[in-house]
Amino acid sequence: MKFTNKQIDRYSRQIILKKIGVVGQKKILKSSVLIVGAGGLGSPIAIYLAASGVGKIGIVDKDNVQISNLTRQIIFDTKDLKKRKSSTAISKLKKINPSIQLHSFNENLTKNNINIIAKHYNLIVDGSDNFRTRFLINDYCLQNKKILISGAISKFDGQVYTFNFKKKKSPCLRCFIPHMPANPDRDSCESEGVLGTLGGIIGTIQANEVIKEILDIGDTLCGYILIVDGLKLTFRKVKLNKRSDCNCNEKNK
Ligand SMILES: [Zn+2]
Repeated sequence: MKFTNKQIDRYSRQIILKKIGVVGQKKILKSSVLIVGAGGLGSPIAIYLAASGVGKIGIVDKDNVQISNLTRQIIFDTKDLKKRKSSTAISKLKKINPSIQLHSFNENLTKNNINIIAKHYNLIVDGSDNFRTRFLINDYCLQNKKILISGAISKFDGQVYTFNFKKKKSPCLRCFIPHMPANPDRDSCESEGVLGTLGGIIGTIQANEVIKEILDIGDTLCGYILIVDGLKLTFRKVKLNKRSDCNCNEKNK
């Protein structure tokens, strides 16, 4: 892959970084990331990854834009109301970076379609709003040894965790939450509320972790959960151990 002058100009502020350089920027351009959920987390994740030059981005979301989304789903504006989220988000990303590959999936991720949709992507970013999807993505990434960067927001708080199933010692979501919680389809932002800026804080940290995983730089969050309290403004990194009776021990040998 040879850079054009336009690409060198566009990515110059990243290329100039010693830990990235031309080699690192090429890695970013060759990477493929699937974003699950074009919501409060998916919006900043998608914007930053497209702007950074991730070469192939897919967005999965079945919803249409509603007015109550606009406090945090910053990839949409008032003119987008009632439009499909996945394709509308993609058309915004095209304006940010026209030279990358973009794909929209206007469907809910299920056990029937996850293999078909996710197989073309090396890295999955979970910005979904319910536990059923979170568990489905965890199990898929574990089975297929992919990197999963997951985030969650509720009220004034948020969490980020990374599972790199290419590494044998990586815990999984089930080590942390052994059983699917009651009401797995419940959207906590809808039932409990959320401050819009939390989507920006957590989603941007997720995008940052994606770039680090692509480049293999810095300290990975794998094996930890980052707990953010937006009111006290504390960031706690808590060790997340592999649970000896979790079935990820069987699958991730
Ligand atoms: Zn596990």
